[in-house]
Amino acid sequence: MSVPALRQPKMLNIVQKPTVNVQCFSDDQSVILTLKDCRKLVISSDSYHGIVMVGIMYKCVFCAVEMELDNKLKEAHKNLMTHKKCLERYPHLEDFSENLIRKLSNNSLYCSLCNVVMMSTAATRHVSTETHKEQLEKAEIKATTYKPF
Ligand SMILES: [Zn+2]
Ligand SMILES: [Zn+2]
Repeated sequence: MSVPALRQPKMLNIVQKPTVNVQCFSDDQSVILTLKDCRKLVISSDSYHGIVMVGIMYKCVFCAVEMELDNKLKEAHKNLMTHKKCLERYPHLEDFSENLIRKLSNNSLYCSLCNVVMMSTAATRHVSTETHKEQLEKAEIKATTYKPF
């Protein structure tokens, strides 16, 4: 499915209420998220930070920058102040609660569970797919077994 890139609608000033609080960054690999209803989810650090692999590059979907496939560069990017500020501009959408969907633009969304970018119109379908449900289940299981200390 593709949508012409030209004439994207002007960004509306939509207030995005954060649905999750980051409780702690336990290590380089995982991030624990606490939902508003106190449920916990553990997702990979790369997914949380929106780092996806594009061909032979890593790409940060929030900062829209690409970097070489180098672990050190990737970890350094996650620690950048500019990246952290960028992340804050894309909170997980309350409407999708535990499905951990962040809005990238008026027509694209990012799923922190599956580490994928999708069209906004595909979101409802996406969260009902088996792959997504599996990821959510994994995140819940990890949260019950994960010991950060
Ligand atoms: Zn970034
Ligand atoms: Zn997903």
